[in-house]
Amino acid sequence: MGHTGVNDRYQSVMGTPVGRILATRLGLPDPPRLERWSADSPVVTGTVVVGGAHTSPLVEPVQQQLAAIGVSPCAAPGLAPDQQIKAVVFDASGIADVDGLAALPEFFRPLVRRLEPCARVLLLGAMPAAGAEPARVVAQRALEGFTRSLAREMRRGATVQLVLVAEAAHQQLASTLAFLLSPRSAYVSGQVVRVGSHGVPDSPATHDREQPLRGRVVLVTGAARGIGESMARVLHRDGATVISVDVAAQASALQTLSRDVEGDWIALDVTAADAPQRIARHLRDRHGGVDVVVHNAGITRDKRLASMRSDLWNPVVDINLGAPLRITEHLLDTGVLRPGGAVVGVSSIAGIAGNDGQTNYATSKAGIIGLVDALAEPAARLQVIVNAVAPGFIETQMTAAVPLLLREAGRRMNSLTQGGLPVDVAEAVGWLAAPGSAAVSGNVIRVCGQSLLGA
Ligand code: NAD
Repeated sequence: MGHTGVNDRYQSVMGTPVGRILATRLGLPDPPRLERWSADSPVVTGTVVVGGAHTSPLVEPVQQQLAAIGVSPCAAPGLAPDQQIKAVVFDASGIADVDGLAALPEFFRPLVRRLEPCARVLLLGAMPAAGAEPARVVAQRALEGFTRSLAREMRRGATVQLVLVAEAAHQQLASTLAFLLSPRSAYVSGQVVRVGSHGVPDSPATHDREQPLRGRVVLVTGAARGIGESMARVLHRDGATVISVDVAAQASALQTLSRDVEGDWIALDVTAADAPQRIARHLRDRHGGVDVVVHNAGITRDKRLASMRSDLWNPVVDINLGAPLRITEHLLDTGVLRPGGAVVGVSSIAGIAGNDGQTNYATSKAGIIGLVDALAEPAARLQVIVNAVAPGFIETQMTAAVPLLLREAGRRMNSLTQGGLPVDVAEAVGWLAAPGSAAVSGNVIRVCGQSLLGA
């Protein structure tokens, strides 16, 4: 697995005093060192401020759910004048008209300069309800522009997100708060997350802080190396039983991984005609079913369209898109994917912004967004959530193969001025795989450091 910033020579040079002087003089980016989650770390280390505009209907439920994940916030007026801040949660869901938006600069202006490195800013908005007043819809939609711009203004690894919460989902926020406020979301910024758009479980969501995936059976495809391997390790760390899938040529890597994560493995090509049936049978017979399916297996075969032969097009579209759709539908139809479960697709920023030489790949990855759109509603009736992650530039063998200059551009062209790590994608999948995320469906979460492409 070719990973990590260790290979990132630019970042190690920029970390030295000479490098920093060069960076300032030449206007080169000086990538901040991102904090990442480690076992036993609390959700947030530092001061957490919670505030709200107007009626602030979410402040109280958020305070309760923060307490449940071990976070004790304070109100902005209670801060010492020079107190540093690690996280801010602002309830903007009560903003009902254009004038009300002035509450945003009023609240944030005094706070932004006091944000610590890798601080977390979270805005909460209201999911547009049918028949809502136009002024209210306009004001709530406006929050997205504020969020994305503030995210671009952040320095030193700080991130900003907007969470839109449906009326019925006020008690369903704990797992989302735990992800977005913690170092688990190191490489996620400028995102809009919807909670409750496809229904909400009857009982308030609970979130196991130590092992959020305890007791969950999770299938990860393409798990032998790269991002998939990292997913298997992170999901195991969080308490899941992991079943790893990869091609037969990767059987020995699968075996080693499965020993490490005390899990199970299946060597098969996800595009094989009987793959859905074989996977279903294995999961039912050995594990009694499955709770989470992560469609990570994917390939690239880059060529401009004029040279795009069918042997480059077909496997990319079938592995990346055809197989995830067939496998998901079969597991849902047979009930092997249990109620309370989750499907996580792996898209890409190429599927959002397009990419030169990747018509095949971008087609397949945009199709994964279609899979989320198409299946979120019917799956909700079976109490299954459907989301996708869309990685940006992640340091793996796939991106190590990109020519140097292009690779350097890919790394830097985002708000955090560096590539992400496989673990960053894996942490996002961990959040979407947790039982506490049962109201989080229909989302495509970019893990891209707020790439400049396709925002
Ligand atoms: P990788 O090539 O390192 O790993 C992919 C794994 O999938 C391999 O182990 C491979 O053997 C397996 N696989 C391929 N075809 C398969 C098949 N037919 N059946 C079963 N397994 C198969 O790639 P990666 O960089 O870890 O990427 C993982 C996923 O993330 C892919 O879907 C990729 O498109 C996506 N992604 C990666 C990046 C990035 O920057 N690396 C960016 C965006 C999206």
